[in-house]
Amino acid sequence: MPEYKTYEQKKRFYRSKPWLTLRQAALERDNHECVHCKKEGKVTVDSIKTPGERKEVKLNVDHIYPIEHYPKLALTLDNLQTLCVYHHNVKEGRIFKPKKNKWAGDEWW
Ligand SMILES: [Zn+2]
Repeated sequence: MPEYKTYEQKKRFYRSKPWLTLRQAALERDNHECVHCKKEGKVTVDSIKTPGERKEVKLNVDHIYPIEHYPKLALTLDNLQTLCVYHHNVKEGRIFKPKKNKWAGDEWW
């Protein structure tokens, strides 16, 4: 079982063909929308690059259970969710936003 604990290991994983293929599958499954925004009734899609304009919204494909702790789920589609940059940051704790119901208790499937 591979490990994804170090930066190098993760970097290698996120560049691997199986991941990039699965990532695309997750985006398509989620309709290229942030699943958290969707829950809030908003639609956040990856912006289409128009000439002369900056591409703003960016979607990430996130591992619900982090691969660092759940390497078995690294390539499991059900462990993936499409998140916008903002919600991804919230999930990773990079933006502190107190909330009543933490996402971790949510059921997605
Ligand atoms: Zn979002």
